[in-house]
Amino acid sequence: MSLRSLPSVDAVLGTPEAAALLEHLPRPILTDAVRAVLDRHRQRLRADESADVSTPSAGEVATAAGQWTRTRLDPNLPRVINATGVVLHTNLGRAPLAPRALASLIEAARETSALELDLETGGRGRRDAHVEGLLAQLSGAEAAVVVNNNAAALLLVIDSLATRREVVVSRGELIEIGGAFRLPDVLRRAGAVLREVGTTNRTRIEDYARVLSRRTALLLRAHPSNFRIEGFTEEASRTELVQLARAQGIPFVEDLGSGALVDLSAYGAPREPTPADAIREGADLVTFSGDKLLGGPQSGLIVGRADLVEDLQRNPLKRALRVDKLTLAALRATLSLYCTSTDLAADLPAIGLLARTEETLEDLAVRASRLLGDQLPTDFTVDVVRSESQIGSGAQPTITLPSRAVRVVHGRWDAERVAAYFRGASPAILGRITRGAFLLDLRAVPRVEDLLPHNDEANPS
Ligand SMILES: *Cc1c(COP(=O)(O)O)cnc(C)c1O
Repeated sequence: MSLRSLPSVDAVLGTPEAAALLEHLPRPILTDAVRAVLDRHRQRLRADESADVSTPSAGEVATAAGQWTRTRLDPNLPRVINATGVVLHTNLGRAPLAPRALASLIEAARETSALELDLETGGRGRRDAHVEGLLAQLSGAEAAVVVNNNAAALLLVIDSLATRREVVVSRGELIEIGGAFRLPDVLRRAGAVLREVGTTNRTRIEDYARVLSRRTALLLRAHPSNFRIEGFTEEASRTELVQLARAQGIPFVEDLGSGALVDLSAYGAPREPTPADAIREGADLVTFSGDKLLGGPQSGLIVGRADLVEDLQRNPLKRALRVDKLTLAALRATLSLYCTSTDLAADLPAIGLLARTEETLEDLAVRASRLLGDQLPTDFTVDVVRSESQIGSGAQPTITLPSRAVRVVHGRWDAERVAAYFRGASPAILGRITRGAFLLDLRAVPRVEDLLPHNDEANPS
């Protein structure tokens, strides 16, 4: 086909297919969509002049433009079924919220609330007050601040307490969390001076003690949540760091990362350090995420000493980093569940998924494989295999949770192509490829039926 043989925009808009679409769509929107579809064809042709593709008819371009607008104007975020085996998958939005948190979020969105109003005095209130009592209950800390995420929490702490002064961190903890978030860069951006101590694998309390001076603002410990240094290792204990910071009269701040509020070993997941542990042992401030193991909405929580929290609240950056009422409402409901629920695995989906037993997963996988075996085109074959799932979001990277998966094999396609077929379904189904085979891991899949791909357009097979 040649560029010239593509139909014109007017020709496409004149087709009966376009007329039908125009009954529901404003003309400028459909016109843009037609241009976009024609552009895509043109680019494909330029990339490969000899492309052995037939010229689309004006009607076909109109239909494709209709599909393009449906995708572009869909009010929902593109839904994805998480069959990767990674429960708290950052790219897929981390923790699914509890039904109770959803109810609070919707009410906060629909109604007005005392977001920043003190109902007793009628004066101005603080939004963080709505979760401060719950966080105090759960962590033992005096006060709390809530910001957009844990990265923002660290930024606010450093900017409030350490500008133009030194922050002491072990070389074994100069972490990159992902994307552009590297601890040394965050410190620099917040105007602090990084003082590295020790070595990658071994840092002792004397290493910290040696660099302390009038310029030292605080000691920072970052939980190495997404990696492990193994073998010949040593690190200063929390108690040693607390004592050293006290003697020097500076705060000890701990970035816990994943923010498990309770001992998750009761639910089959490994034990992570909790904010309550850190506060009990004397940490002055502790930061953690709201949407990792805590199972709430995206947020960054800072708990600790009231005077330090007051410094954070007074920092003008706090205004820029604060959370909105929807987040606050969902967070409050989630924290409230921790105080009242008698069965967290039943009430909090993130913990429920981690707590799924091998027997449950086996049962789900058998049902899923039966369903897929019955319903997929005959080129596919499926069976149930053992699989290893992960917590995700950097929590316990070296620990896997035993799981089950449905292995999907196609007579002619390789695993990549099978993955693309499932990813192209609506909603998209995201599995993973392990040792050359495409797997649908059941660990984080809400319902077995979700694994059946619905493909709008005829798939090439
Ligand atoms: C995940 C993590 C962060 C970043 O938290 P976000 O909520 O994703 O911003 C920071 N520090 C540690 C140790 C983490 O594990």
